[in-house]
Amino acid sequence: MSEQKQGLLLIVSGPAGSGKGTVLRQLMSDPRYVYSVSATTRHPRPEDKEGVTYYFFTREQFLSKVEKGEMLEYTQYVGNYYGTPKEKVSHALREGKNVILEIETDGAMQVKKLMPDAVSVMLLPPDYATLEGRLRGRGTEDEETILKRLKTAVDEVALCDRYDYIIVNETGKSEQAVQRLREIVAVEQLRPERDPDFKARFFAKG
Ligand code: 5GP
Repeated sequence: MSEQKQGLLLIVSGPAGSGKGTVLRQLMSDPRYVYSVSATTRHPRPEDKEGVTYYFFTREQFLSKVEKGEMLEYTQYVGNYYGTPKEKVSHALREGKNVILEIETDGAMQVKKLMPDAVSVMLLPPDYATLEGRLRGRGTEDEETILKRLKTAVDEVALCDRYDYIIVNETGKSEQAVQRLREIVAVEQLRPERDPDFKARFFAKG
């Protein structure tokens, strides 16, 4: 029984302040997971690394990839394009890896439609007050910017019931959220439709 079982496609969304980055970094220490590096037209931030956090493209480069059908999904978010390059995702899934797409709500819905066996999870802070507190964070931004980011976050949270699962990331307990994600993956992998050859193998002689 050496055939390779297809990996799981795990979509993770969460508004700014949900702690997505911290949770996913912990999950990624497991070699069975592959992080899908997105393409974007936004400017790199100091912490960004080409090919590691994102592939940074001009609008022309990005739209040319879209035209060639090289993106699994793409969207515009706060004035920039973001998209998931298709090739690496399919390759990793074929290799049996669990692939993580850290994408926003519009992209998440596109992928769910195209690949219904993908599992979607929304990561949320415990409540609105915590979300606002985390977004105001260091207090370095002006009120208008903060209100804009809050509005975007609220719009994202409003779509949480379109996801397969919601995980609440309690303050200071990100390892619990990581554990929940692992449990979701483990349970999803037990679904019979993910192993269509199970019966054939079970009844095989010798
Ligand atoms: P940031 O600019 O802060 O890195 O990301 C902004 C938002 O874009 C986040 O919600 C992030 O999850 C989302 N995002 C990152 N890559 C992709 C992608 O490939 N597709 C979609 N639809 N959203 C993405």
